[in-house]
Amino acid sequence: MFTGDGKWEVRELAVPEPPAGGAVLRVEAVGLCGSDLAQMQGPIGVPGEKFPVVPGHETVGRIEAITAEAAKSWRLAEGDRVSVDEILRCGECAACRAGDPECTSMQVYGYTLGVDDGSGLWGGYGERMALLPRTNLHRLPDDVPAEELTMFEPLANAVHWASRAGVQLGDSVVVQGPGHQGLACLIAAKAAGAAQVIVTGTSADAQRFAAATALGADATIDVENEDPIARVGELTGGRMADVVMDIAAVATATIPLAVQLVRNRGTILLAGLKHFQPVDGLITDLIVLRQLTLVGGAGYTPASMRTAVDLLVSDRFNRAALVGDVVTLDTLDEGMALLARSTPGRDSVHVSLKHTS
Ligand SMILES: [Zn+2]
Ligand SMILES: [Zn+2]
Repeated sequence: MFTGDGKWEVRELAVPEPPAGGAVLRVEAVGLCGSDLAQMQGPIGVPGEKFPVVPGHETVGRIEAITAEAAKSWRLAEGDRVSVDEILRCGECAACRAGDPECTSMQVYGYTLGVDDGSGLWGGYGERMALLPRTNLHRLPDDVPAEELTMFEPLANAVHWASRAGVQLGDSVVVQGPGHQGLACLIAAKAAGAAQVIVTGTSADAQRFAAATALGADATIDVENEDPIARVGELTGGRMADVVMDIAAVATATIPLAVQLVRNRGTILLAGLKHFQPVDGLITDLIVLRQLTLVGGAGYTPASMRTAVDLLVSDRFNRAALVGDVVTLDTLDEGMALLARSTPGRDSVHVSLKHTS
């Protein structure tokens, strides 16, 4: 569990009974997310988040015990394998009643239900997880390794963002930032019909570029050693990109660069968070005169998660290229270090925690 002061610890908690109208999940694997590193240090801005907390919001597991009501409403049985949508919408607020995904009193698994709430097991880092009624679960196939399925959540974000950016059949798309979220955007852009996807990063990203190529990227550009504007010009026959997706975390130089990489009347999707830093070198007149569209993307919707799960299990891309490293609770420090990119000489496109019991 995360205690909120930069540390994590293992605590033994009793295997829960299913909550009223809910179920208990035996967690198989959970994807580690870049935001987990920040969450370990304390609150990250999720309304209502608690500490200590069992984190983990990219959770895949099997139903271990289920109440009759839940079996009926989810049409699931013990042993069924599912992904857990971390957002639990209340179903009663004005937004929920209007079918708007922005529920105003949502719970978020791995964040807002703490160790002191009920069984305390509400996140994928735990070996068991309690599931409340109304949880949005998606059935998953049995014959795919669990660590290949934890990408459902970053992929749900990517599908939503590709849709926000209006990626169309035949488009040329540049994805800035080849981390697991950027690679998910590559897959989502291809699935949305992009004819060409170009992935940019830095010299530290060699392994991530190899993964991008294995996932179908048409080109990769190391912006430290190549001129990205000239290269995108060449690759698009001088037209430049229809859509640029900025998925790079923290780095702000990608934003003025995006303005140079996109075609006139093209779209820039901003989704990489910059820790509230101002952006140097952004000349907004270029946005005005070239009539660019700037859109933000955050999180996913229930619809994009449905699409992402279908895409993930469809064999339409090389899932194994996205797996990266798999750690256990015993080697979680190693996984956290890979996530932080602080292991000398090693990098990983994604890290999953796999439970052994
Ligand atoms: Zn995540
Ligand atoms: Zn609601």
